[in-house]
Amino acid sequence: MRSLVTGGAGFIGSHLVEALLERGDEVMVVDNLSTGRRENLEAAAENPRLAFHEDTIMNEGLLRELIPGADRIFHLAAAVGVMLIVERPVHTIETNIHGTELVLRIAAEHGAPVLVASSSEVCGKGDGGPYREDDDMVLGPTSRSRWSYAASKAVDEFLALAYHKERGLPAVVARFFNTIGPRQVGRYGMVVPRFVSQALSGGPITVYGDGTQTRSFGWVGDVVRGAIALMEEPEARGRVFNLGSDEEVSIRELAERIRAKTDPGVEIVHVPYEEAYEAGFEDLGRRVPDLSRARETIGYRPTLTLDEILDRIIEAAAR
Ligand code: UDP
Repeated sequence: MRSLVTGGAGFIGSHLVEALLERGDEVMVVDNLSTGRRENLEAAAENPRLAFHEDTIMNEGLLRELIPGADRIFHLAAAVGVMLIVERPVHTIETNIHGTELVLRIAAEHGAPVLVASSSEVCGKGDGGPYREDDDMVLGPTSRSRWSYAASKAVDEFLALAYHKERGLPAVVARFFNTIGPRQVGRYGMVVPRFVSQALSGGPITVYGDGTQTRSFGWVGDVVRGAIALMEEPEARGRVFNLGSDEEVSIRELAERIRAKTDPGVEIVHVPYEEAYEAGFEDLGRRVPDLSRARETIGYRPTLTLDEILDRIIEAAAR
């Protein structure tokens, strides 16, 4: 089996590449190392079944070269991270929409199954959940950059479902909810690696707002296994699946747990949103996935508690 993984040097992508190599796949990676890193693939670098192409998914010529040789495509390449989105909205919109369109169009010419990685951002700012895949999207106004990411990922989902419906492409959408694990970096805004590195370097830990907002964090190993299972399940095609965990935690509590596990002497400070992001930034009060569809279709179940995940992340970061 030969898999193409776009974004394969990213945080989730590199864990997926390792899992596919372990299963005996040949793996082609396309990654322009914008947010991905070469070191993420260090452990796999010597594997003769891995071929790395440092390039953008906007390079149609390269996609036309690689896709005909792929038995399946995991499309993870995207502009990600709330901070990057606020700072570079043009790049975000163009990469996420045009890149996905190219991958799907060329895949459809060859009939190769595609998994499109989406995001819980698509759920928008509804009631906080637990969100089902077919719930309404409630997005904020176009004048707030954050929502350009949600809208671009929603277009990706529409495109994948449309290619399935109209062109018969075996496509499935995986909606990742706040995935965490080793190798994730805090530079683009993600809270867990930020808190861990702040705690390990003497603090302070920066909680945005009052810290009562909640999230549920999915273990990257579970999410990657779920993505592969979705790709291999014919019943999943033409549908959207939430992947993550439904264990909820407030951001203040998260900061306290990370502090307790690293350095109890570290200070936790609260930073107003307008200082952290930009004036008028809209945060989400709560976001929890309903995982029943993935459970029923592929037997998906989170295997680790948040505490166990944090222990693994801290151990990897302290190494
Ligand atoms: N957050 C925080 N301090 C940080 C980074 C993030 O308090 O240094 C908060 C952020 O405001 C949000 C939550 O942590 O409420 C999750 O943020 P992240 O960017 O990781 O994910 P998303 O907002 O996309 O769920």
